[in-house]
Amino acid sequence: MQHRSYPQIRKLLEEGQLTCMELVRNHLAVIHQKNHLNAFLSIYENEAIARARDIDQKIKNQTAGKLAGLVVGIKDLLCYKDHPLQGSSKILNGFISQYNATAVQRLLDADAIIIGRQNCDEFGMGSSNENSAFGSVRNDLDNNRVSGGSSGGSAVAVQAGMCQISLGTDTGGSVRQPAAFCGLLGLKPTYSRISRYGLAAYASSFDCIGILANYVEDIALVLEVIAGADEMDSTVSRKEVPSYATELNIHKKKFKIAYFRENIENPSLQEEIKSIFTETIQNLKSDQHVVEPIDFPWNEYVLPTYYILATAEASSNLSRYDGVRYGYRSPQTKDLSTLYKKTRSEGFGREVQRRIMLGTFVLSASYYDAYYTKAQKVRRLIRDQVKEIFSHYDFILMPTTPTTAFKIGTHSSDPVEMYLADLFSVQANVAGVPAISLPCGIDKQGLPVGLQLLADDFEECKLLKFSKMILDQRQH
Ligand code: GLN
Repeated sequence: MQHRSYPQIRKLLEEGQLTCMELVRNHLAVIHQKNHLNAFLSIYENEAIARARDIDQKIKNQTAGKLAGLVVGIKDLLCYKDHPLQGSSKILNGFISQYNATAVQRLLDADAIIIGRQNCDEFGMGSSNENSAFGSVRNDLDNNRVSGGSSGGSAVAVQAGMCQISLGTDTGGSVRQPAAFCGLLGLKPTYSRISRYGLAAYASSFDCIGILANYVEDIALVLEVIAGADEMDSTVSRKEVPSYATELNIHKKKFKIAYFRENIENPSLQEEIKSIFTETIQNLKSDQHVVEPIDFPWNEYVLPTYYILATAEASSNLSRYDGVRYGYRSPQTKDLSTLYKKTRSEGFGREVQRRIMLGTFVLSASYYDAYYTKAQKVRRLIRDQVKEIFSHYDFILMPTTPTTAFKIGTHSSDPVEMYLADLFSVQANVAGVPAISLPCGIDKQGLPVGLQLLADDFEECKLLKFSKMILDQRQH
């Protein structure tokens, strides 16, 4: 299907050259035709069609909301009232959301159309979408390769044209990494920019809702609709939400960009990604931006810090799934203790169990100070250092991933190998700052390469503006 940004679509809708009904039917046709990609767990066909009809009427009456007719897919970690929610896990079999996530509610209020629920790694834990109780998602460019994860279904759905944008979640790279593997843009905003109400928790101090799309314009519009204060989430920022979309085109500026010397020297960085990275640096320099290499002394601690803290938080968050109040309950239950044990052993997949055990270990009385407390301190050092960099520079540029999309099964036997796929993406989550992955080229096999930009807290405006400059320049 032909790619168009939402502002272009909106224009056609208003001129009567296109209807929401046509849009929805086109996306549904692709969803059915590309069923083998396993991107969707539920398709809300009749509802989407009914909403399209209503919104077409609203467009005629000129009462349509800001995102009228924007066809959206949502990751299976976001609550959508009266619809199933499973976090791609068996343990939530049969669970139906009782309320809307704030981000979902705001999309609906703006007249977006939700077309379905998207496959992901179980509770967001993974980097390839191979850890789903519903099976792997396949990359539309090469069906033997992974989509990336954990928002794999969300990425492939946009890649294949099954929806215009997706809402994913990014705890350690889960929006940016699949965006890079699928040739899309993926934004993880500043921690606390978007309410987490109705987002099934993995690691609460890292979890962010993020946006996957083909166009910066679409990301800007969706962000300004879903971001901002919410009385249902006490951790969300009350900072005013700027109009990201209107600011996109305002004054083109010269920026100061840092990159880490270690990133380029990293032996695990795929050769073509390295050359696209250095080429991009050269292009930015010839465009009169200042680009400088710097050292990041805590580099080797970023990934371990993430995996210690994220597993600790996961072990605590996932204790709510016990088979008592909702979801799966083992039929082997004899008493309270077997109820918990059997339900959790049968309901959670292997990777989730591994993380719960790791997290429980780092939080246990004898090891708490050695691991959890220490990792918290290191996290603070990392954040301080990143903030220090942003007192001199506008952006940090780095690769999104060490490799392009790998073959399904490549890392399944070695969890540490899989964790290394997050080498570059976790930095923004550990520091809490916003980051975006941009499609910046292809490798020898034609697979997309993503580069990411990090900015200071709440600098999404600048981040999106600069992303547009880079992408526009690539097209010329
Ligand atoms: N791949 C990382 C992990 O497994 C990040 C996941 C995410 O961002 N949800 O923890």
